[in-house]
Amino acid sequence: MSVYPSAQFLISAAAAAQFPADRGAEVAIAGRSNAGKSSAINAITARHALARTSKMPGRTRLLNFFQLAEGKRLVDLPGYGFAEGPPPERDAWARLIEALAQRACLKGLVLVVDSRRGLLPPDLQLLDWAQGLRHPVHVLLSKSDQLKRNEARMVLAKSAATLAGRGSVQLFSARDKLGIEEARAIIDHWLSEGPDAGGEAAI
Ligand code: GDP
Repeated sequence: MSVYPSAQFLISAAAAAQFPADRGAEVAIAGRSNAGKSSAINAITARHALARTSKMPGRTRLLNFFQLAEGKRLVDLPGYGFAEGPPPERDAWARLIEALAQRACLKGLVLVVDSRRGLLPPDLQLLDWAQGLRHPVHVLLSKSDQLKRNEARMVLAKSAATLAGRGSVQLFSARDKLGIEEARAIIDHWLSEGPDAGGEAAI
């Protein structure tokens, strides 16, 4: 049974004017191309094809909004785009991301990182950005099924050390269904925060 039985793709936005209304709660999910982000979205939402839309050609520079339940959304950030592409495209992307960041409904950022690579400079750049916005960050070390138990332990420890308290981190495998409950619990928690919760439990 699907965890979010009414989960649906909402819109691919090229401009802030196309964003859904700034109400409810949103969690952004980012990852470099091929990091396993679409697989993670599908695994966490238990919807096999939910994130397929983001794979459509020409949609790489768009923000993809998914509604998990009424007032609860995931926003798929394809690639990072900070240092890629020609300047006009880069600026447009930066504006789009900044507009997303300004939304009151944005509650946190999930960063999908290939566990075989670990956290790299572009990941840390994104982390700094999220930190500047005071949004919590959770890192999924994806494709952990590809690592030996020892290697997995090491990459987890190393990533936690690199994060140094700036975010939480876990091993994740969409293929082997590893760490899905853990990731889902964090996203659910962020999405359940009221508009004024500010990271603390609302009284
Ligand atoms: P995206 O570009 O970040 O959305 O990445 P995808 O979800 O499309 O995955 C990129 C590639 O990694 C595909 O070939 C997937 O089959 C593979 N992949 C994704 N998740 C896993 C996983 O948990 N384990 C393994 N072994 N491969 C995975």
